[in-house]
Amino acid sequence: MLGFFYIFIARKIINMKRQCLECGIEVIGRTDKKFCSDYCRNAFNNKKNRDSKNIIRNTNNLLRKNYRILEKLNPNQKTKTTKDNLQRKGFNFNYFTSIYKTKTGKVYYFVYDQGYLPLGNNFYALVKRIKDD
Ligand SMILES: [Zn+2]
Repeated sequence: MLGFFYIFIARKIINMKRQCLECGIEVIGRTDKKFCSDYCRNAFNNKKNRDSKNIIRNTNNLLRKNYRILEKLNPNQKTKTTKDNLQRKGFNFNYFTSIYKTKTGKVYYFVYDQGYLPLGNNFYALVKRIKDD
């Protein structure tokens, strides 16, 4: 009976040994406690927020860069360019804000109101979307 009791106590202690998510030192207290201190909780959460904001900032920068390239190449409503020309300027084809598919199956990629349509043979049509809504 006493043996049982010791196992119970030992289990309790193991379960209670948790490490602070920020600094790694042992956390004492409630089983749902994740941090050793308010300082560590704040530091951890600030870091987490900063990381997610970096993702947004980096993506916005890439979109802005793409937008400027399209805007510069297409100062009027419509023009044509090559893939090489876009890539040379640093255009990143992975970043766009929307896709527009025509009834005939053509797929336009848009970065805000600047769009591009692959024409084949490394040619692209550049179009500016006219406000329609
Ligand atoms: Zn800590």
